[in-house]
Amino acid sequence: MPKEQTTTVSVPSGGVGAATVQLADLAVRFRSKKRDVTALSEVSLDVAPGEFVAIVGPSGCGKSTLLKLVAGLLTVSSGEVRLGGERVTGPRHDIGYVFQRAALLEWRSALRNILLQAEIRRMPSARARGRADELIRMTGLTGFEDAYPHELSGGMQQRVALCRALLHEPPVLLMDEPFGALDALTREQMNTELNRIWRSTGTTVLLVTHSISEAVYLADRVVVMSPRPGTITEIIEVGLPAERDYAETLGRPEFRAATARIRDLLGAVSAQE
Ligand code: ADP
Ligand code: MG
Repeated sequence: MPKEQTTTVSVPSGGVGAATVQLADLAVRFRSKKRDVTALSEVSLDVAPGEFVAIVGPSGCGKSTLLKLVAGLLTVSSGEVRLGGERVTGPRHDIGYVFQRAALLEWRSALRNILLQAEIRRMPSARARGRADELIRMTGLTGFEDAYPHELSGGMQQRVALCRALLHEPPVLLMDEPFGALDALTREQMNTELNRIWRSTGTTVLLVTHSISEAVYLADRVVVMSPRPGTITEIIEVGLPAERDYAETLGRPEFRAATARIRDLLGAVSAQE
């Protein structure tokens, strides 16, 4: 993709708009009285509209920092971040963010947790309700609209968090180890659902994960980062079709080649999975 590209929002049929994410020679340094930490250095990446990019790397290499830069929650020390062609200079409202912990309000039902997004953004209520119903159906939460967080399993809580993040149809979805706290089987189900949701919304996704197989199963490209200061070691093109059956994908040569390459790069024979 050309570096100066400014046409940034494309609207796939039946889906929301998707934006480009451009990172140009980023560096982030944290300074305190006790120490200076260079969290990221020389990070450049162009993410196409609607592309799914996974980011893997050792703890502390700056993955969460990278997502926060895209969201405008942190500022770069040098370089620049562009979202939808616009330079990111402060907190962005046109993103969805999902964290490892669902962070739901205990006193609100699933539906009212999802609608919180609409209240914060003052979305018209009929539109928000329609979109919430659609997302609830899409994530298999039908019948649990009135359940409170303590009545939901970890997987269901993350589904609610995902619906909340997607309610305002953000052109970019940021996910920071969203399934890290789930058991293996639930995680597989969530992976399958996320693949389906990504295909139907058409949104651009940046996913941070510790699971190599999750990264390869979900992404178009996997960014492998080095230990701190985080730089991009290699970007792997997965080369699988967008629609991916879980079991079938895991057996495919492209899947095995990509996971093997990433494992080599991370030097993680068994530690990461
Ligand atoms: P990762 O998500 O890859 O585990 P982070 O992005 O959270 O890594 O952190 C990268 C590095 O920057 C770590 O060494 C961390 O301690 C440091 N760091 C992150 N946020 C801050 C901050 N607000 N102040 C100082 N240091 C920070
Ligand atoms: Mg992190």
